[in-house]
Amino acid sequence: MIRTRVAPSPTGPPHLGTAYVALFNLCFARSQSGQFLLRMEDTDRSRSSAAWEEAILKAYRWLGLDWDEGPDRGGPSGPYRQSERGEIYRRHVEQLLEAGHAFHCFATAEELEQMRRQQRQQGLPVGYDGRGLALGSKEVARRLAAGEPHVVRMKVPEEGECVVADLLRSEVRVGWGQVDMQVLLKADGMPTYHLANVVDDHLMGISHVIRGEEWINSTPKHLLLYRYFDWKPPSFAHLPLLRNPDRSKLSKRRNPVGIDYYRRMGYLPEALLNYLGRMGWSMPDGNEHFSLQEMQEHFSLERISLGGPIFDLERLDWLNGAWIRKLSLDDLIQRLVEWGFNEDYGLRILTHLQPRMNRLSDVARQANFLFAGHLHLDERDFAAAKLDLAEQQRILQCTLWRLEELVVWERQAIYDALRRLAQSMGHGLHPFLEPLFVAITGSTASISIMDALDLLGSDLSRARLLKALELTGGVSQRQRRAWEKEYRAFV
Ligand code: GLU
Repeated sequence: MIRTRVAPSPTGPPHLGTAYVALFNLCFARSQSGQFLLRMEDTDRSRSSAAWEEAILKAYRWLGLDWDEGPDRGGPSGPYRQSERGEIYRRHVEQLLEAGHAFHCFATAEELEQMRRQQRQQGLPVGYDGRGLALGSKEVARRLAAGEPHVVRMKVPEEGECVVADLLRSEVRVGWGQVDMQVLLKADGMPTYHLANVVDDHLMGISHVIRGEEWINSTPKHLLLYRYFDWKPPSFAHLPLLRNPDRSKLSKRRNPVGIDYYRRMGYLPEALLNYLGRMGWSMPDGNEHFSLQEMQEHFSLERISLGGPIFDLERLDWLNGAWIRKLSLDDLIQRLVEWGFNEDYGLRILTHLQPRMNRLSDVARQANFLFAGHLHLDERDFAAAKLDLAEQQRILQCTLWRLEELVVWERQAIYDALRRLAQSMGHGLHPFLEPLFVAITGSTASISIMDALDLLGSDLSRARLLKALELTGGVSQRQRRAWEKEYRAFV
């Protein structure tokens, strides 16, 4: 039985790259009459949240991706949330310890830092030096009994090499000497990604691991774990990373990568899937315009090409336009209603607009920024604010970083974060908020900026802040690094 999965981590807004991976997994499974699972990889407790999990499920549903098993619908291999599988991982780590494939390490963070410093000074490769292996079993038992904080790491062979087979590329050979003695169980008792991922893929019967290229370097560790457990590894296919037209990696630094951004901008889900489907893949008949159903029918891994696919917003606009023009007017109205012209959203925004309305027609001007994608702004709109442009840019950039770290996106949390940020940056709230007002609402006379951010959602808000940075002249790498250092010191 062919079984594939997508395994998002709910540590931020649903990401375009993960949707791309999900799409290819789904199409491969369906093309082989197999099954497609959704697993939440939420072992990073400080960064994961139930709200992001919900947002991910909602975004995938909006796209029309359909999974057979998952945290929301259960299934025979559950639970599908890693945070609920702690016992399973601990049992498996025990098994590795007993078989001598893993060991305890009590080194503190400072000791490890010192180790790395020394390695750098001596020009040696930087990595864990195996100090935990030198401890005798009596000493380990004594320190465990004393409750000393520790991690469990995997052993790695000293000699030989690992052969990584990938369905999309030729064999890669990696010497074991280059593979780290990976932590499997963290000091808080939670598994790392590597352990949980392997244990789950095996127990969930995953036959094909189709994932982003950024994981290819982890594959030797995973293969070694399969060997230690004496399990047959799945087949691997690492998909190429999406790129900008200038071939740089698509990243949130420069691009909107949140799915919600695309929904808010008014892309149709079928157009977005169609475009993602063309990233490194093509229909056998070369047709550029195809549905999810057609992609599932014609999908094959052999048709994937590895030359970094370009995610070009202009091409997406063109394709989306083609999809919009294919709709009947009745469908188009229906889409607009689903998108924003509905009672739910209407009621949410009117609470804020009503106190400012003298005529019903005022609504068009006042609500414009709540429907628009990007606003028509230029540098002059920012020049009117009290602070100079450079300081406004510093505020826009630090706000972006701060908002990216928010675990819940709602008014009070946004307010608290921004108030504290203004303080740390040495500004009163009013001058601090001015550039944000312009960037987000297009003017300084609008509804409260906190409500505006809340209504627009994190992806579109951040996209507008990013745009504002560009409109005010852009920020050099050097400047950004300097600000980032300052920012890290005050948050
Ligand atoms: N949790 C990982 C991610 O967010 C999954 C990687 C994998 O598919 O193995 O990308």
